[in-house]
Amino acid sequence: MPGPYDYDLFTIGAGSGGVAGSRRAASYGAKVAIAEDWRIGGTCVLRGCVPKKLLIYGAHFAHEMEDARGYGWTVEGRLDWGKLIAAKNRETDRLEGIYKSLLSGAGVEAILGRARIVGPNAVEVAGRTVTAKYILLATGGRPERPDIPGIEHSITSNEALDLVEFPRRVIIVGGGYIAVEFAGIFRAAGASVQIFIRGEKILRGFDDDVRDHLTAELLKQGIEIHAGANVARIERVKTGDRIVLSDGRAHEADCIMYATGRTPNTHDLGLEAVGVHTDKSGGIPVDEWQCTTVPGIYAIGDVTNRVNLTPVAIAEGRAVAETLFNSNPTAMDHSDIPSAVFSQPPVGTVGISEGDAVRLYGADGTDVYKATFRPMKHTISGRDERTMMKLVVESSTGRVRGVHMVGADAPEIIQGIAIAVRAGLAKRDFDRTVAIHPTAAEEFVLMREKLKR
Ligand code: NDP
Repeated sequence: MPGPYDYDLFTIGAGSGGVAGSRRAASYGAKVAIAEDWRIGGTCVLRGCVPKKLLIYGAHFAHEMEDARGYGWTVEGRLDWGKLIAAKNRETDRLEGIYKSLLSGAGVEAILGRARIVGPNAVEVAGRTVTAKYILLATGGRPERPDIPGIEHSITSNEALDLVEFPRRVIIVGGGYIAVEFAGIFRAAGASVQIFIRGEKILRGFDDDVRDHLTAELLKQGIEIHAGANVARIERVKTGDRIVLSDGRAHEADCIMYATGRTPNTHDLGLEAVGVHTDKSGGIPVDEWQCTTVPGIYAIGDVTNRVNLTPVAIAEGRAVAETLFNSNPTAMDHSDIPSAVFSQPPVGTVGISEGDAVRLYGADGTDVYKATFRPMKHTISGRDERTMMKLVVESSTGRVRGVHMVGADAPEIIQGIAIAVRAGLAKRDFDRTVAIHPTAAEEFVLMREKLKR
């Protein structure tokens, strides 16, 4: 459709990626509107990363009180779950307000309502049709649950963040990021927690030492992990809800949470009508410029179902704005993206796993350095928690290809280390860096012995 258009850019979805891309486009003088059918801020800010981390902070005072006792303090405490949820809600409401003012401050028009594409340059929203030179799809994803009898008795992370009553017995199905993070929250807050996974180990895709180390730590806290478990159905009984496994065994809880992955929000967006393709996973394939199969229609973040992390969506949104409105063609580089799992203890990771390195360089072409130790803090606190740190090195070049850590502050430490990995630094660069003592992070520059497998 030839111009003129109502807008230069029309973004669908006001989550982190959509908001970042829209603001950046507006900063270059583009006329931008953004549509949202729920609340401004999206998953990360309102029912994902941020509220989850606030609950983690809240629940983990239990560990800190336990540690304090080892150091001579007399502390007793009880968590008022309702107060924690209310405080979390106040903070997410505040953040929603900030997001709204960021948009209006940038001159982006926010439209509340569900938007559908009705032509290559046309969108229907809030009862009217508007035109735009470019359309940006940033609709994110939602929790996905298998279609088994009784699944309606389970909750997802969406509801878990807003539970009014604290569940004393929790069952979590799935063993990914969300499952282990919520297991840590519920356990620290005092619930009994059982995780059911269909495979053999939690955190598929992570380095095996990370998976094994975290498993051991979760077990020490009393979290039960049932491997090879296939849930056949869920039943509501007088005393709670129960899952029945395919082998007939049943387990009861006050709350059954499914954390079995997320699926892209592509339904009822009008994609088929204009020819925007989706793939088998429901994600929208894009080229290096984030362009879909229809020129002028772009997609970023979880709806593309590639690397489903907030900072990636933000970077992709900004890249689109640079390309379209600042004559600065920018392609997102998805290599060496650091990430964290906010389990107890947390995981931080960047680059490839040992398994991937062996597949790429062979066992002889891969050097591994690993340390496990009891952090100094726990020599007195009495807490039985160990830290694991690991470097995966390509032996022919000496380049550090992967760094993995399970332990206190791992996400904070790995954020810094990720700069070294992205910069392509070698093990010898780590070796000639002076340690900061006494820290846990210093292990990364002190590891000398190659692991013999
Ligand atoms: P994940 O994809 O991480 O894990 C899904 C888990 O569910 C796996 O253990 C998988 O098992 C299992 N599973 C999948 N389908 C079934 C099924 N039908 N029956 C039983 N088990 C099943 O998903 P999450 O929901 O934990 O998280 C979604 C995404 O959100 C993550 O991939 C991540 O990108 C993002 N996220 C990031 C966070 C962070 O950065 N800290 C925090 C939270 C989410 P199997 O291993 O056998 O396939």
